[in-house]
Amino acid sequence: MATSNAYDVVVIGAGPGGYIAAIRAAQLGFSTACIDEWKNDKGGPAPGGTCTNIGCIPSKALLQSSENYEDAGHHFADHGIVLANLAIDVAKMMARKKTVVKQNNDGIVYLFKKNKIAFFHGRGSFMKKGEGGWEIAVAGAKAQTLLARHVIVATGSNPRALPGAPFDEKSILSNDGALAIAEVPKTLGIVGSGVIGLEMGSVWRRLGADVTILEALPTFLGAVDTQIATEAHKAFTRQGLKIVLGVNITDVAAGASGVVVSYDDAAGTAQTLDCDKLIVSIGRVPNTIGLDAEKVGLALDERGFVTVDGDCRTNLENVWAIGDVVRGPMLAHKAEEEGVAVTERIAGQKPHVDFNTVPWVIYTSPEIAWVGQTEQQLRAAGRAFRAGTFPFMANGRARALGDTTGLVKVLADAKSDEILGVHVIGPMASELISEAVVAMEFRASSEDIGRICHAHPSLSEAMKEASLAVDKRALNF
Ligand SMILES: Cc1cc2nc3c(=O)[nH]c(=O)nc-3n(C[C@H](O)[C@H](O)[C@H](O)COP(=O)(O)OP(=O)(O)OC[C@H]3O[C@@H](n4cnc5c(N)ncnc54)[C@H](O)[C@@H]3O)c2cc1C
Repeated sequence: MATSNAYDVVVIGAGPGGYIAAIRAAQLGFSTACIDEWKNDKGGPAPGGTCTNIGCIPSKALLQSSENYEDAGHHFADHGIVLANLAIDVAKMMARKKTVVKQNNDGIVYLFKKNKIAFFHGRGSFMKKGEGGWEIAVAGAKAQTLLARHVIVATGSNPRALPGAPFDEKSILSNDGALAIAEVPKTLGIVGSGVIGLEMGSVWRRLGADVTILEALPTFLGAVDTQIATEAHKAFTRQGLKIVLGVNITDVAAGASGVVVSYDDAAGTAQTLDCDKLIVSIGRVPNTIGLDAEKVGLALDERGFVTVDGDCRTNLENVWAIGDVVRGPMLAHKAEEEGVAVTERIAGQKPHVDFNTVPWVIYTSPEIAWVGQTEQQLRAAGRAFRAGTFPFMANGRARALGDTTGLVKVLADAKSDEILGVHVIGPMASELISEAVVAMEFRASSEDIGRICHAHPSLSEAMKEASLAVDKRALNF
């Protein structure tokens, strides 16, 4: 094999896990290649994976556009701003989203060049372990074979479909179709009230759709701190999202106007939901399609995830796997952290990724963000804790913004006062949570945050006040 195609590290997949792993590998002095098969409209490369192309980035672009529209229609008047003939141009909104996505694709192409990473557009698959490393086939515009001393599998995940109701991306939509609806549907059904269902439901409700979310579980946002989930349920219901819990879907069929979903409600009564479009967001499945994992004996678990240890090592020598294709939270920043950690391990360093300090965010309005343990988890573990809460209603900046829904909640160990979890529902929760992540990484106490000077007026003062409230000494509430 030509030595020019031999690399220290070959990464398969250029999502947030893969492209960040490739950059860190190059920074560490490894000759690095990254293979990714994603195609843009013109058939060209579009690195960035699900996150950039049909996930984090386009969803946030549409959330911003739709929030601006809702503000203009419902909140600007409070500021004395009068608008006449407000309208939404969905085609323009989608075009903007596309531009934002492309800026991110182009940014990754630039970073690959800057870091001298060889990028191959096509599908990567395992061939065999040869002399000096793994042989990886690239099936793209031209077939090539790469030789890799180390392989990092970062092939991501795909949306899970309802049994018997495959995605057609016209009326039964995955996240891909949900981010590309050409005009506002009159009625929108969503199956699954997780992060994606709530974010997509919020976008289309703000633009005028009548949205019903069907959720199989009996509790709303069960993984979220119960107090926060209760606030969220109230806020979303007030906004007009219809959330039906405890349903059992019995059939999904084409109807006169789009889709008819038959389900039994929590009481066991048969119901139907007629909707123009149906978004199915019931989770994601690991993607190992076309990787030829079985050819080389790469072990997958019973759910199809690549089996890895705590350090992202697979059962094969010098083959690693990261991100959505392995266990753990399906989050872009978790994939990135694993990518960095794996390359540093290859370089002989000893990095560590702590899932307990991985922040979670739901970019609805109000936003929801948390890190660490929930109150119910601490109770279940029998851990003695103290809780402090502070409502945005009592925060000057939130009042000035006109956005006072929600609260900050800090949970700290009853004895040591170490912060065990922080939960935010309210404006800019996605940004506020960083302070809590830093605090927990440094094993700070709630007193530490309470003693830190926070700018006034700022939303971050709610973090300080909730920390003071742990010791029952909030100042402004
Ligand atoms: C609608 C939506 C919104 C989301 N919002 C957020 C958010 O706000 N924040 C957040 O943290 N997470 C969010 N996520 C989750 C996030 O997108 C994923 O956790 C993240 O993309 C996982 O990164 P990854 O690198 O593991 O895989 P991916 O991003 O899925 O990338 C995998 C890449 O590998 C390529 N590939 C697969 N197999 C091969 C092969 N054999 N050869 C070559 N290439 C291959 C794929 O084409 C793809 O480009 C969202 C997801 C969705 C669907």
